Amino acid sequence: VPIEQIRNFSIIAHIDHGKSTLADRLLEYTGAIKHNSGQHQVLDKLQVEKERGITVKAQSASIVYNYNGKPYILNLIDTPGHVDFSSEVSRSLSVCQGVILLVDANDGVQAQTVANFYLAFGKDLKIIPVLNKIDLKQANPDKVCEQLRTLFDIEPDEVLRISAKHGIGIKEVFEKIIKELPHPEVDRTGPFQALIYDSWFDKYRGALSLIYVNSGSAKIGDSISSCHTKKFYEVKTISVLRPEEENVKKIVAGQIGLVGCNVRNIKEAIIGDTLHLTSTPVSPLPGFTPPKSMVFAGIYPSTLSEYTDLRKAIEKLTLNDSAVSVDMDTSPALGQGWRLGFLGLLHLEVFSQRLQQEYGTEPIITAPSVTYLIKLKSTKETEKKGTNELYINNPINFPQSFNITETYEPMILGTIITPDTYLGAIVQLCQERRGVQVQALNIDNDRIMLQYQLPLCEVVLDFHDSLKSLSSGYCSFDYEDYGYQLSNLVKLNILLNSVPCEELSTIVHVSRAQLVGRQMVLKLKDLIPRQMIHIAIQASVNGKILARENIQPYRKDVTAKLYGGDVTRRMKLLAQQSAGKKKMKMIANISVPRNTFIDFLKK
Ligand code: GDP
Ligand code: MG
Repeated sequence: VPIEQIRNFSIIAHIDHGKSTLADRLLEYTGAIKHNSGQHQVLDKLQVEKERGITVKAQSASIVYNYNGKPYILNLIDTPGHVDFSSEVSRSLSVCQGVILLVDANDGVQAQTVANFYLAFGKDLKIIPVLNKIDLKQANPDKVCEQLRTLFDIEPDEVLRISAKHGIGIKEVFEKIIKELPHPEVDRTGPFQALIYDSWFDKYRGALSLIYVNSGSAKIGDSISSCHTKKFYEVKTISVLRPEEENVKKIVAGQIGLVGCNVRNIKEAIIGDTLHLTSTPVSPLPGFTPPKSMVFAGIYPSTLSEYTDLRKAIEKLTLNDSAVSVDMDTSPALGQGWRLGFLGLLHLEVFSQRLQQEYGTEPIITAPSVTYLIKLKSTKETEKKGTNELYINNPINFPQSFNITETYEPMILGTIITPDTYLGAIVQLCQERRGVQVQALNIDNDRIMLQYQLPLCEVVLDFHDSLKSLSSGYCSFDYEDYGYQLSNLVKLNILLNSVPCEELSTIVHVSRAQLVGRQMVLKLKDLIPRQMIHIAIQASVNGKILARENIQPYRKDVTAKLYGGDVTRRMKLLAQQSAGKKKMKMIANISVPRNTFIDFLKK
């Protein structure tokens, strides 16, 4: 079809506002899927998406809609709603000319609605505002329209009112898409130039790349090259997603399609890379700024023999989830592993769940940390390195305090939307987490939008959960990176009988040291098994002890009596013990089982 009959768009919305349901309805309406086929949210393909009921990966579908006797190709990209996946949203938007901004007519505008609106607005995309769930008794579309006007200057008469679930107003959505969204501005006669905006690994066909063709065309058998790897490949398969794959021979500018070149090295299908015909080199399209990892966690095989499997699983999964950063890491207690960087906590959880469900691995994952910036005193060493800035996300690398001039911690700008009944409790929580209020705005007569500057480390662990529970789920939260801020960070050490235990140390704000130290020694007291010798567990900062707990030794005769009677039982226990010992680490003559480290380091 002519370029004038192509529309590329995304549906963006806060989580649960009905993106996937609307996508289903649009597919159904054009006959791409059968009505009532029992499938719901057909674009949510991953098991974790089905279980959690959230979309993690953006998915694409090309559908055909006939309007005024002409077929239009609509390329629809379903996007995830959660904050942690905003890089997926951002990537999807780069191949779109417009978006449907979907808002639940009962819930109203939420934090992610605001974030998504500005993502689209910043990219100069045409925005079609749509209220969903108007079938609900509690729906209050007029009030939501007021919110849209206050926040985004959207006039109520521009807003469509639909029910994705019951298929009300779907035709109007199609007509708006066709009438109001611009068609892509592309050149079909120019040299082939395409952006890889997603890729994943297929057992049979190797790495598959989802591409948006910006100019020219490519067909099966063509030799194509990548601007980044400089290698060339033969196009083996091309398909369009309807949403099931449908093989085609050729793909032209303005279209979205899936290309397979039987690439076995998954590192060669780079998201953000530009493809061209080997014979006609082109300049690369603006790629994507790689998303910045905010939260880091160590990941280790549960047993040594699982190392290789885990490595392969991580490689494959990070191809599909390019937002994860990977570095090698070793832990004295847990052995060889990796330190992975994520966009947020949910991202970390989803990633580990996918490792398990899609690759059958069950690694140990340590508690999340953030990246701190340390400025060092000038020494020969800093001169040699050419910088006195040090970024660390592992407490083991925290320098000695006498080498430090300043410490900085990563900050976020958090947006919270809440019914005003919870205002007091939320303000208190933000203050406890060292937050500073930047803005407070009434978005209608009983709802407020707050913006806070907060240290990231105070948010990663349980901030979102706390917000949800203190507002009975009525408050929503989103955040963006806000750079580094001068702070006062210290390394909190754990000592076992006066010997420091590196892998148990953490970095904390000085005002938190006492409290966290207290919690840590209490937790360890629970975790470390009683032994023949007395154990002192201490938390210290710069040599100063902040907390202490003791574990009393066994009396010798107790064990003797316990195991004295039954010989076979005794043998069995001894065998168990020696097997167990192999997994122990000796610190100051105290044997600390591997499980203690695992339980302690996990969240
Ligand atoms: P997403 O997270 O934005 O993709 O939202 P989903 O499409 O997964 O929908 C979230 C929930 O809202 C599901 O339980 C849907 O059945 C429900 N839902 C979606 N659209 C409507 C609607 O128009 N009316 C009603 N009553 N429920 C809806
Ligand atoms: Mg969804």
